[in-house]
Amino acid sequence: MNTIAYLTHPDCLAHDMGPQHPDQPERVRAIAHRLLITGLLDHLDHFAAPLATDAQITACHSPEYLQFLQDRTPVHGMVPLDEDTFLTPHTLVAARRAAGAAVMATDLVLAKKYQRAFCNVRPPGHHASRSQAGGFCFFNNVAVGIYHALAGGINRIALVDFDVHHGNGSEEILAGENRVLMLSTYARQLYPYGQPALGGNMINVDLAAGADGTALRHAVERHWLAALDQFRPQVLFISAGFDAHFQDDLGNLQWLPEDYAWLTQQLVAMANRHCDGRIISVLEGGYNLEALARCAAVHVQGLLEHL
Ligand SMILES: [Zn+2]
Repeated sequence: MNTIAYLTHPDCLAHDMGPQHPDQPERVRAIAHRLLITGLLDHLDHFAAPLATDAQITACHSPEYLQFLQDRTPVHGMVPLDEDTFLTPHTLVAARRAAGAAVMATDLVLAKKYQRAFCNVRPPGHHASRSQAGGFCFFNNVAVGIYHALAGGINRIALVDFDVHHGNGSEEILAGENRVLMLSTYARQLYPYGQPALGGNMINVDLAAGADGTALRHAVERHWLAALDQFRPQVLFISAGFDAHFQDDLGNLQWLPEDYAWLTQQLVAMANRHCDGRIISVLEGGYNLEALARCAAVHVQGLLEHL
């Protein structure tokens, strides 16, 4: 077993909120193309992401919210759910594929068919709370995967979220769930603004605007690694956003591809120490197509090492 699972689906490109919107369908294709031209795609086992079921979604979202989304889905055009999150006729099928990828990745990893999985999917998920869409997110993909793992009897799960934006939806869903330890880095003065609703199972490191990879390394070394070593997760989920790259217009940090490589190495080493290397990584943000593709590729390359 010297490969990892790679989950994606063409339906993830069908959700299109218009040519001016940062969350372009091309994001998924740009990553796949980069994996192809770097030769990494040949080293991955491909899976078509299934549709998440109602039961899988309502393990962390309210049934009323799921019904609301279904009722509001238009036949034509777009329905705004907040100022930059729009339901289109194809949104929910894409969102079910994205959440379904996290579920299937969880099954593959927990069954020990693969140590690690990467889900190249959209729409992203970490701003979706139990009963509210927002920040381009509809279903909280990584939380759907985590609740699937909890239902499968896993009871120590770590979630690392390194998107430049705070994963407020994940935090709202997981706060107080002591089987899960959530660790985040994110930038101040960005969406979703406001103070995070701190749970005792949350370790947040907010970074000043302009912070570079040195700040990331300090955050990980000072705040994450000891906590992870103490918690000893049985599996690690990653909310993998790549919008802290210096060229990303939606972020305000200065990370480089080598920072994502370093971070991935740290997480792989931690996973190898504590949980047989088991990592499920799910795409979140990253809106500069070239930077997104490069950073996602170095992340996947890191996941392929030390298997
Ligand atoms: Zn983001």
